[in-house]
Amino acid sequence: MTLHFEEPSASHPAPSPAASSSPAPSPSSPPTSCLNCSSSPISYQSPTCRHPSLCNGCAMKQATGGKCKVCGEKFFELQRI
Ligand SMILES: [Zn+2]
Ligand SMILES: [Zn+2]
Repeated sequence: MTLHFEEPSASHPAPSPAASSSPAPSPSSPPTSCLNCSSSPISYQSPTCRHPSLCNGCAMKQATGGKCKVCGEKFFELQRI
């Protein structure tokens, strides 16, 4: 009489820890200094695209029109924020 021992195949691959935690996207903080002179705080935005981009002094220079420093869209007035 012959006994056959069937070994249980213990070929269970170790579960690879897929815990590759991606870093949380940091909240994009709005720019705080003028995108034109970068020396004064932003206080004006284009009313068309609503991108805050200009400080008080630069807004006075471009009050009659210019291009948004963020998206390049033309504006013809500026809005105090
Ligand atoms: Zn400025
Ligand atoms: Zn813009």
